[in-house]
Amino acid sequence: MSAPLLAVENIGRRFGGFVALEGVTAAFEPNKVTAIIGPNGAGKSTFFNLLSGVLAPSAGTIRFKQRDITGTPQHRFVHLGIARSYQITNIFPELSVHENVRVAAQAFRTRYDIWRARAAMSELDERADAALAAVGLLGRRTTTAKFLAHGQQRALEIAIALVAAPELLLLDEPTAGMGPEETRDMVALIEKLAADRTILLVEHKMKMILGLSDRILVLHHGRLIADGDPCHIQSDPEVRRVYLGQ
Ligand code: ADP
Ligand code: MG
Repeated sequence: MSAPLLAVENIGRRFGGFVALEGVTAAFEPNKVTAIIGPNGAGKSTFFNLLSGVLAPSAGTIRFKQRDITGTPQHRFVHLGIARSYQITNIFPELSVHENVRVAAQAFRTRYDIWRARAAMSELDERADAALAAVGLLGRRTTTAKFLAHGQQRALEIAIALVAAPELLLLDEPTAGMGPEETRDMVALIEKLAADRTILLVEHKMKMILGLSDRILVLHHGRLIADGDPCHIQSDPEVRRVYLGQ
């Protein structure tokens, strides 16, 4: 394996006495797509919350580019190069498509480059438009976000995550609520984005995951019960028993 971009060692998270995630160890190579699967309540979103700083782990370490980032506050993550989208659509419905991304570009800029806060407006506009182009929404830049189709709203969320030029992109159920056509478009988008960044995604659509992912991690009751390529995971007897119901 080449040097991992991200490595977690024995990470866990408790809520009071309840163990939501325990003893998860895994390393992730750059420019690969990894899917995290598992039944409801398995700990998938908790895992993402730890990887994006939304929650601190109660145990274990997280390394990003060989650096220990365990306990780093959430607002620093985007600056480290880690961005995420959420399970629930999270945009400003009354703003235009372009404004949604521009607000994110501005927030990213002013928080970390306060002395450059007066950077040319055009630079922020360009950054926003580049992110929109990357997800195929440049042609809709003046549309009010609430008038986009559901699939396009999810693509807009990804554009918002992309303004920070993340090396690691975490997507929590990017095809939730999508029909077959929108799902196909999202798969094509993820494949395109995977060419030059590392992607972790939580998903339920097995067929989609098998075609898209280089690797699959299976969580069950907060533990990693399988980790391998799609072929290996499909034939793993424990995975079939707990997840595929066979
Ligand atoms: P998944 O995304 O795999 O469906 P989650 O990671 O959301 O699962 O949740 C794993 C378990 O941890 C669930 O039983 C859930 O109820 C519990 N949990 C998640 N977040 C919290 C929290 N903030 N407080 C208490 N329990 C939580
Ligand atoms: Mg979840």
